Amino acid sequence: MKKLAQETQALLNIELSPWQLSTVTHYMRELEKWNERYSLTAIHSPEKVRVKHFLDSFSCYRMMKNTAPSRVIDVGTGAGFPGIPLKILFPNIHLTLVDSVKKKTDFCQHIIQELGLGGVEVIHGRAERLGKDEKHRESYDWAIARAVAQLSELSEYLLPFVKVGGRMLAMKGDSGPAEAQAAVEAIELLGGRLRHLEHLHLPGVTEDRYLVVIEKVAPTPGKYPRRVGVPAKRPL
Ligand code: SAH
Repeated sequence: MKKLAQETQALLNIELSPWQLSTVTHYMRELEKWNERYSLTAIHSPEKVRVKHFLDSFSCYRMMKNTAPSRVIDVGTGAGFPGIPLKILFPNIHLTLVDSVKKKTDFCQHIIQELGLGGVEVIHGRAERLGKDEKHRESYDWAIARAVAQLSELSEYLLPFVKVGGRMLAMKGDSGPAEAQAAVEAIELLGGRLRHLEHLHLPGVTEDRYLVVIEKVAPTPGKYPRRVGVPAKRPL
């Protein structure tokens, strides 16, 4: 944990509190236990879990620190990344976690109870359906995702959730700039505008990381997101 504290300090210039560090330790232990039984994530070594799950999730802080986020949705959260680490970083946010695979949302539900995190809602479902639900549509300050889909497809999942004036954040690797370029038209169609590409390096990771930030400048037309499966099959 000392290492995560040092790496977080170096990357983000913030000091993790004792509560934050012990909560991350607890999360890692539970993840390891469940991974043995259910293989929730592809990453297993403690070193990689620390950097590629936790530090990588924390890196969103670079984009979110000045916005005092209040309602955040993490779509395709898997075993809780990046949503739960962000909740640990910003304990006051209201967080919604969505995934279409039941064993993953079961794990998320278990872990938020285990860690005693309040203000977290876990939903087993598809982004395409939830994005039409008025309880969730255009009601978030941030919609975030990592490793779910290429950017134009992902924008159709995420932008419907974002309030006008809010933002979406896509965590990307080497392909970030090219995906951003290719998605410009889709983003505009959905009411977004490409705002910023933040480049970063994680210690010991050769691949570049990019945080792609898209601002919501107009409401998303009612026909988006299209039916389940269509955004993947025919990306805008
Ligand atoms: N964000 C996590 C998991 C990435 S794997 C991480 O970075 O570790 C992608 C996840 O997205 C899978 O768990 C899959 O079930 C979920 N997913 C893909 N398309 C989805 C959709 N349309 N709606 C909801 N969840 C989806």
